[in-house]
Amino acid sequence: MLRALLLEFAKSTRLRRWITSNGTTRRWAQRFVPGEDLAAALQAARRSNQAGMSVSLDLLGENVLTREDAARARDAYTNALNQIAAENLDGNVSLKLTHLGLDLGDECCAEQLRVVTERATALGNFVRVDMEGSAYTDRTPANRKQARAETAAVGTVIQAFLYRSEKDIEDLLTIRCRIRLVKGAYQEPPEIAFPRKRDVDANYIKLMQLLLPSGIYHAIATHDPKMIDATTEFARQRGISKDKFEFQMLYGIRTDLQSRLVRDGYRVRVYIPFGQDWFPYFMRRLAERPANLLFFAQNLLRGR
Ligand SMILES: Cc1cc2nc3c(=O)[nH]c(=O)nc-3n(C[C@H](O)[C@H](O)[C@H](O)COP(=O)(O)OP(=O)(O)OC[C@H]3O[C@@H](n4cnc5c(N)ncnc54)[C@H](O)[C@@H]3O)c2cc1C
Repeated sequence: MLRALLLEFAKSTRLRRWITSNGTTRRWAQRFVPGEDLAAALQAARRSNQAGMSVSLDLLGENVLTREDAARARDAYTNALNQIAAENLDGNVSLKLTHLGLDLGDECCAEQLRVVTERATALGNFVRVDMEGSAYTDRTPANRKQARAETAAVGTVIQAFLYRSEKDIEDLLTIRCRIRLVKGAYQEPPEIAFPRKRDVDANYIKLMQLLLPSGIYHAIATHDPKMIDATTEFARQRGISKDKFEFQMLYGIRTDLQSRLVRDGYRVRVYIPFGQDWFPYFMRRLAERPANLLFFAQNLLRGR
């Protein structure tokens, strides 16, 4: 209930205005978003690299409505790739297709994506296409398949909460696409997504077991110790070595677990979001964990 409500609030322009202009909430959001510009993201990336983790930089933004905004996002991504290379950082980028103009048409979006993936290919780097709400799930595969046909420097995301994901994985493995497996952060109806967490978790493990033996370098993105233990145990049983896949976690979440995995010899990548448009991302993080909301509300009341 609360999760659905928070995800609905994420669409409210009025709430967005209030939350993003309030000093307390802005400070609090820094727990999940290190800053509003690339410099802040690069600083966080350097810290993660020093701690033995790679990163993926995500310029926050979605559902742009003009070609100019789509082009601005494209240029920000090529700039981020250039800076990662210039500073010799261990990092790549993650982006959303609606940030590159998917709402303006497949062609517009594909044009911007091509510029970013060409830059990544030239630099020997990699672009991850995030997965958004189900309104885009049908359109994203066509884009990612086309992009994958053009370069191996692009990968995608599969959400375990969708019934269709097993079939999508089978398709994507035939084109040797690198996949990030997540549970799914959006509110979806029971016609297309498992409503119960335990079914999502069971599907996550089933999908992880399809990905790991494929011989392709995939990412297991979760903060859930049960999913992580199931992955390490499965890899151990199958003799899949620790450098054949990576764990991914979000900036500021379960940093204890991130460090433990590095200590245990696993590869860990931290997803670092940055930018001014942090409100929907922030709301999705609150929705994932109601305890965050309580903590946030207490701080707000105390004016901290
Ligand atoms: C690197 C990365 C990229 C992602 N990309 C996408 C994407 O492209 N599309 C998409 O739909 N979703 C994406 N997600 C979000 C994902 O779908 C889940 O919503 C999110 O990861 C929470 O699920 P979980 O696997 O951590 O398990 P959960 O069962 O939700 O959480 C397990 C435990 O992790 C901790 N935890 C989880 N979330 C939080 C939080 N917000 N604050 C504090 N503690 C928390 C808690 O201890 C919790 O008990 C991404 C997640 C990661 C890690």
